Amino acid sequence: MNEYDSSRMADLLAQTHQIQSTVEEGDANVLLLNTCSVREKAQEKVFSQLGRWRKLKDKNPGLVIGVGGCVASQEGEMIMRRAPYVDIVFGPQTLHRLPKMLDEVRIKRVKALDISFPEIEKFDCLPPPEVEGVKAFVSIMEGCSKYCSFCVVPYTRGTEFSRPFDDVITEVYELAGQGVREVNLLGQNVNGYLGKTHDDQTISFADLLRFVAAVDGIDRVRYTTSHPLHFDDNLIAVYRDTPQLVSHLHLPVQAGADRILNLMKRGYSAQYYKDVVARLREARPDISLSSDFIIGFPGESDDDFEQTMALIEEIGFDQSFSFIYSQRPGTPAAELPDDVPMEIKKFRLARLQARINEMASEISASMIGSEQVVLVDGPSRKNPDELTGKTQNHRSVTFTGASDWIGRFVKVKITQGFVNSLRGEALGPVESVNTEVV
Ligand code: SAM
Repeated sequence: MNEYDSSRMADLLAQTHQIQSTVEEGDANVLLLNTCSVREKAQEKVFSQLGRWRKLKDKNPGLVIGVGGCVASQEGEMIMRRAPYVDIVFGPQTLHRLPKMLDEVRIKRVKALDISFPEIEKFDCLPPPEVEGVKAFVSIMEGCSKYCSFCVVPYTRGTEFSRPFDDVITEVYELAGQGVREVNLLGQNVNGYLGKTHDDQTISFADLLRFVAAVDGIDRVRYTTSHPLHFDDNLIAVYRDTPQLVSHLHLPVQAGADRILNLMKRGYSAQYYKDVVARLREARPDISLSSDFIIGFPGESDDDFEQTMALIEEIGFDQSFSFIYSQRPGTPAAELPDDVPMEIKKFRLARLQARINEMASEISASMIGSEQVVLVDGPSRKNPDELTGKTQNHRSVTFTGASDWIGRFVKVKITQGFVNSLRGEALGPVESVNTEVV
C-alpha cells in the first residue's frame, strides 16, 4: 500500500511540478518520507531517517522535507516540534494535496500540515497511473473499519470506503491499454469492497473481480489484503469460474486460539478460518496460502501458541508475514499488560517461521516435474543472463530464455525447488494462462 502511495506521489509531482526522482538523496530539492506505523520499529525509523536528512538541509537550506503516511497521520504537529526542519506533514488521505502544500512552503514560506481524511477527493485529484512493465497496483478501497484491538490503521488511514466501480474499471482499462497484464487490487480489506456505479448500483468484490478479469489484456488478477470475514459464497465461486484469478491467497489469520482471536477482536474463530480455507480448496484445489501472524499478543500462553502451531499444521501455509506483537498507542490492546517475556516471544516466532519455511520447501519440492505458466518479470537479479517471473501460486522461478519474453507468459518445467523459489527449463511462450506453447 505504501509503495503504491509513494508512486502516486511521484506521478503527481511529476505532473504538477515536473519533479523527477533522483538516485542520490543528496541531489534532491524535495525529500518525502512515506511512513508506516503498524509496528513501533517502523515508527522509530522515521526520526533516525529525519536526523540524517537534517544534515542535508544544513548544506542546502532550500531543501523541502515532507513526512507523509501513517506516522504523519498519528503524530501530526508533533513531528514538526520534534524535527523543526520538516516543512510538510501530510497523511495517507491528503497526499493529493502535496502540490499545493509544496507551493505554500516555497512561495509563502510557511509550513504546511494536513492530515485530514477527505476520502474520495484524493482519487479525483490524482493523475491516471503511468506504469512501466506489465504489472500494476490498483487501489480499490481505503481505510479500515474492523478495529482489531492491536491495530492503528483505522485511526491513521480512516474508516473503510470503496472507490466508485466506474473509476476502478476505467483505471484497469487504461492500464491494460498501457500493456499491463497483471493487476493487483489493493486495500486493507479488499474483499469488503462495495463500490457504487454511476447508476447507483452496488458492486461486490466478487463481481469486481469478474469485471476486472474480463478486461481485454488482463490475464492475471491478484489482490492484497483480504479479511477472513468477507469470504462469501460468491467470492468462493470466482475461484471456480475465473481462471485469471491467481491460485495464491494471502489471508491473515493472526492467531490460532479462539481466546486470543477474541481479545484481538477479529470477529471469527479458528474453526471459521479453517472452514473458509476448506471451501476455497474445494473450489481451487491447488491454491497456496500465506498469512499474517502476531506472536506474543498480551496474555498469549504456551497453550494458545500451540493452537496457532496446530492451525498452521492443519492448513499448511506457503509463506508467513509473522511479527512479534507491538504495542500501539491509542489501540484497545495497549491497555492490556504486554506480559509475554521477549525471550519467549522470540522463541515462538522462530519456531513458527521455521515450520512455515519447512512447509514452503515441501510445496516447492512437490512442484518439481510440473509445468507452470510464468509471467516473466525481467532478468534475474542473481544472474542477469537468466530470466525470472512468478507462477500462478506466486513462486519465483528462474530459467534461461530470450530477452523478448520479458512481459510475456512462458510455460516452464520445474526442475529444482528451494524454500520460496524454483528453477526450471522454459518450454516456450504462451498467449495467456490457459493456452498452449505457441
Ligand atoms: N486485512 C488485514 C487483516 O485481516 O488484518 C489487514 C492488514 S494489517 C494492516 C497488516 C498486518 O500488520 C496485520 O495483518 C498484522 O499481522 C500486522 N499488525 C498490525 N498491527 C500490529 C501490531 N500492533 N503488532 C504486530 N503486528 C501488527
